[in-house]
Formats: sequence, C-alpha cells, structure tokens
Amino acid sequence: MCGIVAYIGKREAYPIIIKGLKRLEYRGYDSAGIALLDKGDLNIYKKQGKVANLEEFASGKNITGNIGIGHTRWATHGLPNDINSHPHYSNDGELALIHNGIIENYDILREELKSRGYSFVSETDTEVLVHLIDDIIKTEKVELVEAVRHALLNVTGAYAIVILSKNNPNQLVAARKSSPLVIGIGEENEFFLASDATPIVEYTKQVVYLNDEEIAVVDLNDGLRILSITNQDKTPYIQQLEMKLEALEKGGFEHFMLKEIFEQPRSIHDCFRGRLNAEKGWVALGGLKEYEQKMINANRLIFVACGTSWHACQVGEYLIEGLARINVEVEYASEFRYRNPIINENDIVIAVSQSGETADTLAALELAKSKGATILGICNVVGSSISRITDAGSYTHAGPEIGVASTKAFTAQVTILTLLALSLANKKGTISETTFHTMLADLEAVPDKVKKILDSDAKIKEIARIYQNASNALYLGRNSSFPVALEGALKLKEISYIHAEGYPAAEMKHGPIALIDEEMPVFVIATKGTSYEKVVSNIQEVKARKGKLICIVTEGDTQVKDLADHIIEIPDTDENLVPLLATIPLQLLSYHISVFRGCNVDQPRNLAKSVTVE
Ligand code: GLU
Repeated sequence: MCGIVAYIGKREAYPIIIKGLKRLEYRGYDSAGIALLDKGDLNIYKKQGKVANLEEFASGKNITGNIGIGHTRWATHGLPNDINSHPHYSNDGELALIHNGIIENYDILREELKSRGYSFVSETDTEVLVHLIDDIIKTEKVELVEAVRHALLNVTGAYAIVILSKNNPNQLVAARKSSPLVIGIGEENEFFLASDATPIVEYTKQVVYLNDEEIAVVDLNDGLRILSITNQDKTPYIQQLEMKLEALEKGGFEHFMLKEIFEQPRSIHDCFRGRLNAEKGWVALGGLKEYEQKMINANRLIFVACGTSWHACQVGEYLIEGLARINVEVEYASEFRYRNPIINENDIVIAVSQSGETADTLAALELAKSKGATILGICNVVGSSISRITDAGSYTHAGPEIGVASTKAFTAQVTILTLLALSLANKKGTISETTFHTMLADLEAVPDKVKKILDSDAKIKEIARIYQNASNALYLGRNSSFPVALEGALKLKEISYIHAEGYPAAEMKHGPIALIDEEMPVFVIATKGTSYEKVVSNIQEVKARKGKLICIVTEGDTQVKDLADHIIEIPDTDENLVPLLATIPLQLLSYHISVFRGCNVDQPRNLAKSVTVE
C-alpha cells in the first residue's frame, strides 16, 4: 500500500509524477503529495483525498523542477489529512521524504528526536525518518547517502523511501526493505523510481528491482549506484520490462473492474498458453515442473495467502486433494506466521498473491524457509518480491490488475492451481488417462465459455438492479463452489458495502438460516454435479423461508429454474472447472450493484491493493 513515484532527469518532473501517482492510486487514495526541487527551492504540495484533489490544488501554481518525489497514501499511522500526507520534511526544510511501509520503532525514535530538539508536525510513523536522517547529517557530518544508511540501521519495520535534499540538488536517494521499489533507467542519467513498474513503462523498458536492505543513489552526473545498508557496493541487475502501456488504460470501459472482468477470456487463455495442449494430451507448468516430484512426496502442501488469493487456494485444495490425492492445507498468511506452526523439510509452502508483495504472505514464506521447507510462489506481478525469494514458481500472466477488487487475477490463480492439480494427478496416476484428456479439453474450452457468460451481462445487470438496496446477502455453494461463494460475498462487500457472507450450502441450517426472510437475497451455485441434489434441497429450505433465490445453474437446468426467483445459466463443464465459470456472474452482479448504489467501484473506501503492511 502507498504508492511512491520519483523522477530525476531533464524533463519537468511534475507531470511525470502526477501521471505515475494516478497509475499507483490502487495502492491507496487517502491523500497525495509531491515535492520538487526548483532552482534551489524545495516546494511541497500535499492534499487529502485523491490525486485529482492534489492536481486541482496545484493547478495554476506554475510548478516546475526536474527532480521530484510523489506519494499516494494509505494511512497506517495518523488520520488521512493534509498534514499527515507525504512528503514529510525536516525542520529546516532541507530534506523531503516519501515512505511506503511502517516504522515499527517510531515511538522510541520520536521521543529521542524530540529530546534532541526536533519538532514533529504529523502523527505519522514516517516523520521520524526524515528527522533521523537530518540529525545524522548534522551530528555525524556525513553525506546524505551515508546518513540514510546509518538511519536505516536504527530502524525496524518495512520501508520503501525516496529522499530529496536541497543540498544534493543532483540526486535522489532511495532504499527498500519489505516494500517494493523499482528503478527505471532512462537516457543520459534520467531515472524513474516507483512502487511498481506502471508509472515507468511509457518512458523506459529497462528496470532494476531494488532488493531488501539496498540503497540506491540516482545522480544526474554519476548515474546509478546501489549499495547495501551494510555498505557493500552492488552491481545493478538490469531487466527488460514486458508490460504493455495499453494494459494500463481503461480501453473504453467505464471502470477498470469491468474491463478486467471482460478481459477474463483472454487472461485465462494467457495463463494456460504454452502450458496445456489438449490435443497432444500434456500439461506443464514450466516454473514448477522441477518440484512436482517433491510435491508428490511431500508431507503436505501448505498454501499461504490473504483475501481473494486465499479463496483461490481453497479452490486449489479441493482440486489437488480430489484429483492428485496430495494432502493440502490452506492458511491465512497472517495467522500462519504468528501461531508458531509446525513446519519441516518435507513440507512445501506455496504463496499465492496477485501483487507478489503482500507483507503477511512474504513473512509467512520467510518463516517457512527458516524452518527448512521448500517455498514456491504463484503471483501475477513479474519481478515481485515473492517471485524473487521463492525457490521456484509460476506467473499467472493476467496482466496488470488495477481495480482494487480482484477479478481476473483470481480466475488466473484458479487456472494455475487447476493446471497444477492436473499435472500432479497425471504424474501420480491418480486420475485415468480419459479423465485427464477430457479435463484438458474442458479447460481449453473455458475462455469461450467465459465469453458466453459475459454475453449475458445485460440480464445480470437487471438482477443487480432488483437487489441493489439489499442490506445483507448470503452466498451458498458446496464442494469447490464453496470458496466461490466466499469470493462472491467478499466481492459484494468490498465494492458495494452490503454485508454479505459465504457459507457451505449445508452449513446454512447451523445458523445463517435464522437470517433468511423475504428481504434476504441468497445467491446459490447450483450447477450439475455430485452435490446437485443436495444443493437443490438447500434451495428448498431457503424458499420455504421466503428468501430471494438467485441461482447459478448449468445451461438447460429445469429443476432449480422452477424454484428460483432468478437463474443465471453457465455452460456445462467438468465439475472441477465450475469455479472458473461460476465466479464470472458473481463478479458482474457485485459490479452492477456497486454502480447502482453510486459506490466507487475501482477505489472502494478504506481498501487498497498490494497490501505491503501487516
Ligand atoms: N506508515 C505511513 C503512513 O501512515 C505509510 C503508510 C503505507 O505505506 O501504507 O503514512
């Protein structure tokens, strides 16, 4: 969370930074701020709210300068107001700093700095950093980079920071630990720094991902230098960006979320492209292949994830246990890391994260690694921290996901987990050749079937119109559709602020049934398959209590049709692949309900993507 952007070069920094901040707004939108160095003056502009508020505030102010830093905040310490906005500056106005992360020992540092005469204007943890660096420059009489290094040795917590100094008008100093930072290399000592590559991609394809506990100095005369916080020089590893600019635009859709929902036929296809061939009968997840035998021999596979990714892992558990007969556990990363879990060398811990930066998931991996487990990753963002610390992994190739509520990243994660389940099952011989081949063909057909579901958007929108004023909603499913129900409920609450719960359909009678009355919409995944008849009974139970039934059924269904208030048909497919299809109408329902309620679909309140804080 929190997006940071910085620029140094020959161009005007302001437009580059503002545009970059807009690209990073998915990371937080509590406030935005910018600091620029202009002919020896350090000018800072900060405003509560979205980047557009800052832009409005700055308009007509003739902001110039070719070195600058910018920030869009997701507040952790202190209210989201103008004062707590970043950049924060030193008491003498010489230094300005932006930060993504949390300084855990800020309290002690703050007290110490106060006793040394420093005055604090904000309630943030971040402000201690700028005063600490300033104090070290003054007391130890060292250069900026050295002061940053010393300061970071005294800091615990997570940070990606960039510092601008009036006394060093030709350089920016940046550093990271547990929060991401990418450096784009332009021409003739021109540099772009950002939390991810999206603000950089239109200027350069050459990037360096800063590693934990590294400091970067970008200098108009001396170029790029990287050193560790223990003062060892590092050779920058320059990588080529593959991201396309069009992927970052709305492409004619009203919201990023809608665009991303409609991209799913392509993103699911991109996810299995080159990894599956139904005709020839093979499936191969390149990145994980080497570890498949190990997975088969492992005590258990432990998936760690948060939020929507956790739901994808739940689907994965049904598939891998069901098809490959390997013991799987799914853990919330935040719980796993703090409950002293029993892990050993025969366990394989697999992290699933869209951004690959989720703080809790990263920490869970580190813990597992320290206990000797093999650690693997499934993430979407190429070059992300999880992809770099894991022994091996697979990218989901869903393309940049900008809507804060995850859609295409979820279906891509489920696709990867389906491929993994099939590959392991085939290798282990736990499914027949015929089942294997039929499932491959069915998986290959999923993108076209998703397209068909998307064609019923107008009908889904009408259902959404009817339920837009609901106060509560229940989502029910069985088997691998149970995590789909959880995901459906999460999507609705995230973007429309309607209270929603997902349950295994059979659990309803153990509590939630008490909530059902004629006001309660109940969304049920009731597709053909082993538990169909059981789900039909659950539907009867809802109907008997006058709940409103919106059922997702297999094309041609007649039984549920007679019971439900509304049905949404999805094409027939192998039972194991239903999650990939049944998710789509639930995404569209949440989207339209949110729009009808006038909510901010792409930037729901209090949320942000890429949760880089605990
Ligand atoms: N802790 C800082 C603040 O509250 C940065 C927040 C973040 O990176 O999410 O301002």
